Amino acid sequence: MIDDKNDENKIRFRIFCTNPEQFAAFLRVYDNCRVYVDRIYLDADNVLDDPESWRKLLIDAKSLNPELSLYLSLPQVLREKDHPYLEQLYFFMTNDPVFEGILCGNLEGIGFWGEKNEGSEHRFRVIADHNFYLWNRDAYLSWKDQLDGACIPLELKEGEERKLLDSCNLPEKRSFFFDKIIYGYLPMMLTANCVAKTDGDCRALRPEKWRETISIRDRKGVLFPVQTNCRHCFNVIYNSCPLSLHAQMEKWKRNEVGLRMHFTMETAENTEAILRWFWGNQFDDRNRPFSQYTTGHEKRGVL
Ligand SMILES: [Zn+2]
Repeated sequence: MIDDKNDENKIRFRIFCTNPEQFAAFLRVYDNCRVYVDRIYLDADNVLDDPESWRKLLIDAKSLNPELSLYLSLPQVLREKDHPYLEQLYFFMTNDPVFEGILCGNLEGIGFWGEKNEGSEHRFRVIADHNFYLWNRDAYLSWKDQLDGACIPLELKEGEERKLLDSCNLPEKRSFFFDKIIYGYLPMMLTANCVAKTDGDCRALRPEKWRETISIRDRKGVLFPVQTNCRHCFNVIYNSCPLSLHAQMEKWKRNEVGLRMHFTMETAENTEAILRWFWGNQFDDRNRPFSQYTTGHEKRGVL
């Protein structure tokens, strides 16, 4: 147990789940841990497609912690043709007030929600994801009035992250403006073409095949998972092993960022094991639930 829900100096975790199985796994672990989680991000496509599977889980989550904030994470690529999708999502969120806002890494989504907020009494919160690149003081100052939070870009090294946090001069109440991802498979490349279409088989008209995980092999024989999304026609190529900053976590225990654990392709069993391993705080390598991992740019910074 690394923290107490009532401790003033608590570490704040934020959890990203792609599917209901991962979220159910999170709830099982959270129920038995004295860990403080203040925010959950859920994949918007997945929630919109199957709201009934999520409903009970969301009620369970709120009963475990009524102050848990729930956010929907928008697709990484949005085009003009996705406008009806955004309207559908906005309608869904307006009718189901359980969600406080959105997480988004592109201007299209953030701009859409900004316009909706302007014309409405109900204001949804808007969090910029790591790929929005709010990575220096000028970017922060330009966007701070439109955003309720942001994720530190993945390309910064530790010294640059500290500089960003210090230079933004965050007021007390916004000290948790930033998320920092400490676990998760990171995207190596986002391709806005449709690989399925290149292969002559775009699945845009087959909802059961919208999301699939395939893999590609590089010249050294390493397999990289690829998630295809034919609802919006883009692909994410992920690194072959996850980021894990468990060894660096100690340095981030000051009350300044929310530590995000970001689940994408993990099974329910993996998700549960990884959360237990992180929250058990022993970090015994013999029990580590993933064999290889990377520390990303934490030490090397922007290349
Ligand atoms: Zn497609």
